[in-house]
Amino acid sequence: MTGSVTLSLAGLHSALLPLLDGWPLAVVGLDLDEKIILWNRTAEQIFGWTAAETIGRFHSDFQKKSGPSLRRYLKRVMAGESQANKELRLQTRQGQLLDVNWSATPLRDNAGEPVGVLILIDDITIRKQLECAQVESERFSRAIVDALPQHIAIIDETGSIIAVNKAWRDFARANSEHPEELCEGANYLDACDVQEGEGVQEAEAYAQGIRAVMNGTLIEFSLEYACHSPISQCWFNGRVTRFSGGGPLRIVITHDNITELKLAEKAIQQLAQYDTLTRLPNRMLLQDRLGQVLAKAKRERQRAAILFLDLDRFKLINDSLGHAAGDNLLKIVAARLNDCVRKSDTVARLGGDEFIIVLPSVPQTEDVTLIAQKVLQALARPVDLEGQEVFTSTSIGIAMYPADGRDVDSLIRCADMAMYRAKETGRNKYQFFSEEMNQQMMQRLAMENGLRHALERNELQLHFQEQTELASGKITGVEVLLRWQHPELGLLAPPAFIHLAEETGLMVAIGEWVLRTACAQNRSWQESGLPPLRITVNISGRQLNHSRLVETIARILDETELSPQWLELEITENLISNNIESTLELLQQLKNLGVSLAIDDFGTGFSSLKNLKRLPIDRLKIDHSFLQGLGSSEDSTAIIKTIIGMAHNLGPRVIAEGVETNQQRDFLQEHGCDEVQGYYFSRPVPHDEFCKLLRTIRAT
Ligand code: C2E
Ligand code: MG
Ligand code: MG
Repeated sequence: MTGSVTLSLAGLHSALLPLLDGWPLAVVGLDLDEKIILWNRTAEQIFGWTAAETIGRFHSDFQKKSGPSLRRYLKRVMAGESQANKELRLQTRQGQLLDVNWSATPLRDNAGEPVGVLILIDDITIRKQLECAQVESERFSRAIVDALPQHIAIIDETGSIIAVNKAWRDFARANSEHPEELCEGANYLDACDVQEGEGVQEAEAYAQGIRAVMNGTLIEFSLEYACHSPISQCWFNGRVTRFSGGGPLRIVITHDNITELKLAEKAIQQLAQYDTLTRLPNRMLLQDRLGQVLAKAKRERQRAAILFLDLDRFKLINDSLGHAAGDNLLKIVAARLNDCVRKSDTVARLGGDEFIIVLPSVPQTEDVTLIAQKVLQALARPVDLEGQEVFTSTSIGIAMYPADGRDVDSLIRCADMAMYRAKETGRNKYQFFSEEMNQQMMQRLAMENGLRHALERNELQLHFQEQTELASGKITGVEVLLRWQHPELGLLAPPAFIHLAEETGLMVAIGEWVLRTACAQNRSWQESGLPPLRITVNISGRQLNHSRLVETIARILDETELSPQWLELEITENLISNNIESTLELLQQLKNLGVSLAIDDFGTGFSSLKNLKRLPIDRLKIDHSFLQGLGSSEDSTAIIKTIIGMAHNLGPRVIAEGVETNQQRDFLQEHGCDEVQGYYFSRPVPHDEFCKLLRTIRAT
């Protein structure tokens, strides 16, 4: 309503009233005194007063509650200035205030003189209420969205950020040097445009996903990604959803902060895949990495190498300096190994003192040799362990992909075999795997397998070799010597399998069988009327270290009813000299059972005289190597004489093993050796033969 209406009041009434009554707007006319001169039907309906009640009365009589704006606008119109679309609150008959859209224009007569005002009023209460409700609902939604822990942003079809929630804004402020680049007005695609550094690939995948949602290829997509800000590192699960229900395109981006979850996941992974002591990858992770290395080497037709390391004499350090020092050494070794290789190589700890190095790409064998040498040198440097300078070294076995094996397990096995060979051939060296090692290993495995069943299949036997007293010429004892009737290889003597039995721990059960069989045998000879004999049984290192040895022997003596005086246990000298203190106690316990004790292979170990004096020993057995040297080597002759002299000084009797000739016997007799054993008298023979021998001797 612009300009002013030029009309007489009477004319206005008669001409417009029928028309105005039908209008959806309230039409109110005022004269210059602001008395009401026009009040249409709609005004009656909106305000509640009839035309009859209002016409001729002051407009202000009906608007006592309305605010000062009405007065101000009215004054302006009276002054000739039209007012359009003013939002006001006007009073109704019931005293209620209505929201109205209010326009007014001056009324003039034909001469152009002001005669009053024409007011048009639109009741917008409902619209206002709806608007309010909408504002309220938006505020409410906003409060909810702001209270959510998820970071939420809404972008439009160009990627421009329209709105973000509080969590998003707070995160941007805390983690970005330019938070404004992540908030309203900025373009989100620019923020995703990471050019370099960590997370480039993820960011690229993320931006691609968003573009796909923007152009409608995707409705929604989600992605877990790490956010590498200069301030912190976080992980998010980002979800991007397209909304285009008739209105403008909106894309909602929700980021769930999964940092804590990821950190927990990482911690669990660390525990499961890394060795807690050295922080190196453990066996599990090694297998995984090695699998990947082999797959890549296969694809790219490259060679890879595996170095299997085992520290030399680690047990000694652990036992002598304690476990804490041992742990320390392992940590130092781990660090030195890491220094020897590139970042792309893997150094893992298999457990104990075993490590593995994986070299993913080895163009030439010399490259591996260089690394192996570097490792040997690095570990050769002395280590300071609690103020003590300790020297360590390692043996390295090397297996190559694809020549030695094509899968993880066989390569590790080959490298392991090569490592054993390195150890056997002198330690502190490296050794490449060869096929011959494999064959040896297969044989060993077959042997081991056979040995496991030898006892239950009754393949073990005892042979017996007499021990003769030189002075009387009488058989005073018998040594039992183990034999294995192997189904394919025939009768095997101990050197062919005893090491294996020791390594696998089978020696404990086998040794118990030998003891029981020997004792039972001796008892049965006695029962058959043969003169009582001392039976000598060899005891191995494994048996000696077994916690129940004393108990087992006592039980066997009890079960077989053999008097302990007829059982002698033979222990090699090196087993005793290796750990004198603990052996001493054990020997005393054995001695307390009433059995006698002998030191086997005497002269080959390092027993000091002082120690020998402390041992509860009945017999010293001169090692047969000295007998062989007799006559040809002055040393051997001197040693035999010394051993006999020394033993007699200290107490034990002396027996010589490996006597093959009468010269040897004579020499021993001349020098006061008490007993002898050897092929000269009898070879070790099976039970029946030995019985025959005993009977013949008795008969003579
Ligand atoms: P050892 O206890 O020193 O036994 C003496 C070894 O010398 C035996 O070898 C015997 O056959 C052999 N021998 C005997 N007289 C002569 C001779 O005049 N000349 C030569 N050159 N050798 C002679 P064998 O039976 O092969 O046993 C070898 C080793 O195996 C034994 O050495 C012993 O340490 C071990 N051993 C044998 N039986 C058992 C057993 O039941 N338990 C344990 N733990 N070890 C055993
Ligand atoms: Mg022996
Ligand atoms: Mg011996």
